[in-house]
Amino acid sequence: MAKAQSETGDPFLLTPGPLTTSASVKRAMVHDWGSRDATFVRYNREVLEAIVEVAGGQGTHVAVGMQGSGTFAVEAMLTNFVPRAGKVLLLVNGAYGKRAQRICEIAGRAHVVLETPEDTPPDLARLAAVLEGDRAVTHVFAVHCETTSGIANPVAGIARLVAAAGRRLLVDSMSAFGALPIDAREVRYDALAASSNKCLEGVPGMGFVVCRKDALIESRGNATTLVLDLHDQWQAMEKTGQWRFTPPIQVIVALHQAIQEYREAGGQPGRLARYANNCRVLVEGMRALGFRTLLPDAMQAPIIVTFHMPADPRFQFQRFYDGLKDRGYVIYPGKLTVADSFRIGCIGRLDEGHMRGALAAVAEMLAEMGVASGAPALAAA
Ligand SMILES: *Cc1c(COP(=O)(O)O)cnc(C)c1O
Repeated sequence: MAKAQSETGDPFLLTPGPLTTSASVKRAMVHDWGSRDATFVRYNREVLEAIVEVAGGQGTHVAVGMQGSGTFAVEAMLTNFVPRAGKVLLLVNGAYGKRAQRICEIAGRAHVVLETPEDTPPDLARLAAVLEGDRAVTHVFAVHCETTSGIANPVAGIARLVAAAGRRLLVDSMSAFGALPIDAREVRYDALAASSNKCLEGVPGMGFVVCRKDALIESRGNATTLVLDLHDQWQAMEKTGQWRFTPPIQVIVALHQAIQEYREAGGQPGRLARYANNCRVLVEGMRALGFRTLLPDAMQAPIIVTFHMPADPRFQFQRFYDGLKDRGYVIYPGKLTVADSFRIGCIGRLDEGHMRGALAAVAEMLAEMGVASGAPALAAA
């Protein structure tokens, strides 16, 4: 088959991020801007306001930008919102939950971990029991879509439980925000972290934390580092309209363009519909080739899909990966401990045509390797 490529001649990224962006988003970056340029300052303000709007937090929440990748925003969220004398219960079912644990260890924030396997959502009954039994716990941290497996964790249910227990919720919604619904008017949280380069389809370089304003005000003085001080970052932005340190200008201008395209395409419902269709086409096509998904459909977020490694000894993952890349489709290795696997993403500027193209490339690679079926070993199926 002919090599597939984007308008800029790049392969398509079927990965957890960074992702394929539109040509217009990429073009928005081809300028130099001073950080005090009036147009840039306006774009910056509009981006932060739009994020609050996407979150459903107008009037109650503010968005604080943070230079760096998404993890910078997660670390800023945990270290600012969990006070030095606080304690956070971490719901872990994958690498991003584990990363939050590492952040708390390094920052010296007291924490307790409630872990389930990567293919299993958090146990809400156990969560309720720990909140009941451990009065020292002030906060709960949850990952919205755990990108390690692609599982959709039940944040709305978690939020109800946490609120009923009089505790505060912090959400890593990195790979879900903008696509999976999480409306601040319905789901109560103190802070939610996400980034420019996932479902909003901007380029990488800026994280952000959507903060309940009252909780952000209370967080003053909690920060453990200068650069990750969200309260200070917010105050400076309020007072001067400026970032405290060099802003990722091209990233913000590209995100401004990406948000315009997001609105034109129907906002969150529009984005979810496109990703859900991508996911359906992908999963149906892969199953027709014999592959099996790690997760049952009911737990699968339409963000990234984990497939079991085929059992056929002629299947070689590196050759498969390279062959797909040569055909213009980049997939992602697995990160699971429960099973040997690989992942294919549904997010970024991709539609059904790209998913069908990727499926055709998968079929070609199976034929090239002499693999009759993508079926995993029976025990894994
Ligand atoms: C992508 C992602 C992050 C952030 O990762 P970075 O590599 O720092 O951008 C955090 N949490 C989840 C769930 C993610 O998918």
